[in-house]
Amino acid sequence: MDFSTTLSTAPVSDERLAEILANPGFGTHFTDHMVTIEWTPSEGWHAARVTPYGPLTLDPATAVLHYAQETFEGMKAYRHDDGSIHTFRPEENAARMVRSSHRLALPVLEVDDFVAAVDRLVEVDQRWVPDNSVGGGEKSLYLRPFMFASEAFLGVRPAQHVTFMVIASPAGAYFKGGVKPVTLWLSTDYTRAGRGGMGAAKTGGNYASSLVAQQEATAQGCDQVVFLDAQEGQYVEELGGMNLYFVHDDGHIVTPETGTILEGITRASIIELAGKLGHPVEERRFSIDEWRDGVTSGRITEIFACGTAAVVTPVGSLKSDAGDVPAPASTDLTMQVRQALVDVQLGRSEDTFGWMH
Ligand code: PMP
Repeated sequence: MDFSTTLSTAPVSDERLAEILANPGFGTHFTDHMVTIEWTPSEGWHAARVTPYGPLTLDPATAVLHYAQETFEGMKAYRHDDGSIHTFRPEENAARMVRSSHRLALPVLEVDDFVAAVDRLVEVDQRWVPDNSVGGGEKSLYLRPFMFASEAFLGVRPAQHVTFMVIASPAGAYFKGGVKPVTLWLSTDYTRAGRGGMGAAKTGGNYASSLVAQQEATAQGCDQVVFLDAQEGQYVEELGGMNLYFVHDDGHIVTPETGTILEGITRASIIELAGKLGHPVEERRFSIDEWRDGVTSGRITEIFACGTAAVVTPVGSLKSDAGDVPAPASTDLTMQVRQALVDVQLGRSEDTFGWMH
């Protein structure tokens, strides 16, 4: 795919960029450019372009605003100490967007085109990828590809005009004062996904439906919400934005099986990585009682969560209407897995899996 390029005539100044990259936070600053590709049934994907970052003008009848036909991705570009820039497994994000798009009746953007679009934006806005060579930081450029129903039409059917875009935003280290366990609230009033629903798709509606549960978690003084399955209300699914792992005293790890959860790229990577570290990962249903009993008996020695944002974080205590479950005893393997993954992403250890692009 060929991209036309119109460069910004007013890119951010070096001084301002240095200020932003010193303390990027998350999701508030955006790079100088964006990528757009259009789709219609007759033309397919076309009009691929890089343009200055800026607002969109949308007809009030634009379908996505009414029926939420959209998918998105979240991934990062990292600057290694030699100055080179790498994304982590972008083909996996591309493949996940294909799966999400099938579920949302959106057109398929081929993996190569998705990766080319992301590469193009990173190339044009490369000065926005933070430097980690001083102080061993974990900053990155967060990349947000998304696809939405851009047709102005109020009938309920798959849109006949779809727009794919990529924007980017520098991200600071998720944990500022060092990694510390997240506390969790068990949601029993709300579920995230049912059988045949959209749980495995990365689509806005799943996040809209999680907000009220996250509000409840915050009101309970917890960092994140844990969702249970919708059918029986007893199997652990995932957090609002992270997948879960349960480390057992014999060394094996259990992670909830796929189907109604978002299949994290970090999740898949940890299954490979932990296996190599001598900790086989079993994917199966895992009940909330198993969590409670396992921590109490000491059979579960660690619990951790993972996702692009935090990479890996230890899980602390779980609060629920049915009583609290304390934090497991250890975080040793969690921190080992975290370090191994961060080292590959930031180019501080050999990329034996061939994950960096
Ligand atoms: N579950 C949910 C619901 C998420 O939003 C995310 C973040 N994309 C994850 C899991 C982790 O996925 P990944 O490792 O690809 O970031």
